[in-house]
Amino acid sequence: MELSEEQTAVRRLARDFTEREVVPYTAEWDRAESVDRAIVKKLGALGFLGLTVPEEYGGSGGDHLAYVLVTEELGRGDSAVRGIVSVSLGLVAKTIAAWGTEDQKHAWLPRLCSGDALGCFGLTEPGTGSDAGSLTTRAVREGDAYVLDGSKMFITNGTWADVVLLFARTGDEPGHRGVSAFLVPTDTPGLTRREIHGKLGLRGQATAELVLDGVRVPASAMIGPEGKGFSVAMSALAKGRMSVAAGCVGIAQAALDAALSYAARREQFGKPIAHHQLVQELIADISVDVDAARLLTWRVADLIDRGQPFATESSTAKLFASEAAVRAASNALQVHGGYGYIDEYPAGKLLRDARVMTLYEGTSQIQKLLIGRARTGVSAF
Ligand SMILES: Cc1cc2nc3c(=O)[nH]c(=O)nc-3n(C[C@H](O)[C@H](O)[C@H](O)COP(=O)(O)OP(=O)(O)OC[C@H]3O[C@@H](n4cnc5c(N)ncnc54)[C@H](O)[C@@H]3O)c2cc1C
Repeated sequence: MELSEEQTAVRRLARDFTEREVVPYTAEWDRAESVDRAIVKKLGALGFLGLTVPEEYGGSGGDHLAYVLVTEELGRGDSAVRGIVSVSLGLVAKTIAAWGTEDQKHAWLPRLCSGDALGCFGLTEPGTGSDAGSLTTRAVREGDAYVLDGSKMFITNGTWADVVLLFARTGDEPGHRGVSAFLVPTDTPGLTRREIHGKLGLRGQATAELVLDGVRVPASAMIGPEGKGFSVAMSALAKGRMSVAAGCVGIAQAALDAALSYAARREQFGKPIAHHQLVQELIADISVDVDAARLLTWRVADLIDRGQPFATESSTAKLFASEAAVRAASNALQVHGGYGYIDEYPAGKLLRDARVMTLYEGTSQIQKLLIGRARTGVSAF
């Protein structure tokens, strides 16, 4: 595959931005447990929060391969920054573009694309993660409004977001059939947010628990048809998994860069450790993981851009790239020896950040169930 001139240019723009605005601060943000909030407006100014959103709604257009390239570059710099884009654009803005009414698109998309507003995605609850169709947050119709009660767990951008794409039960049908989706402004009375601290990785990211206690929204806040909320969520996640995979390619590439640089400089037994074949083996393993994860991820973008089915390929890319990112970061740490274990070098943070990738937007086990079901035609759930 060859990138077009536009794709090459957007990748260069993202790489320069990441080198200048992200990489110098990433260790500091990790220790402070918060990236600098000013990064959101900077991402918006470059059009990174509106990629693939039509220009008429404030987006910067672009194809999905361009989106993947930007996501990879941001992930190479700092997964906490990459996650801001993957969620606000990838899960929220793109879903509004796909499922929203004209009013909803005009109300939210220009602000989300410019970085004036941020979105978060509220599916997981304290009691329901992989089994998201069993969620218990309720939305009860009262006249021309819905009243929402319940809670959401592990919500990325949760304390920063201006709007939450929230999934709640509107009917008594069991499982996913009774679920609807809503766009809920986070300043609505009754909605409270608590930041979750002490994460292993992604420490710079604002991850939160949301509690809804009598949150009243107009009926027009529903997005997509009543009872089709689970389809809205699954369509968002199918593309979201490509975005996570791209972020993982970035982590694996950063691991390769760090391992190569260290192996060329560090000397043991009278020569740079890059001369030892077992160190070369570690580097070869990282390199293969980078290439394979990248090609699987680009394939998803290419399928989407050509209007082809992509959900199973997206699960495949997410499964492989997330496991590959963990392996690559761990191998890079090994190349660094004891120095990999201290935060003066990037390998430890890469490993901590990579570890969540096999968990969120569907664990590795759930991706295997989805792929196995698609290939056999037999439901595994
Ligand atoms: C940092 C972070 C950010 C997140 N951001 C968001 C967000 O923005 N929005 C959001 O909605 N959610 C978010 N999540 C939640 C995330 O998607 C869930 O944690 C994930 O889906 C797993 O759910 P769980 O933690 O409840 O684990 P569980 O579902 O309880 O799973 C526990 C274990 O059981 C396994 N398991 C479960 N069911 C099966 C099965 N049928 N077969 C085989 N194995 C199974 C799982 O693979 C896992 O190993 C985030 C999580 C984290 C940690």
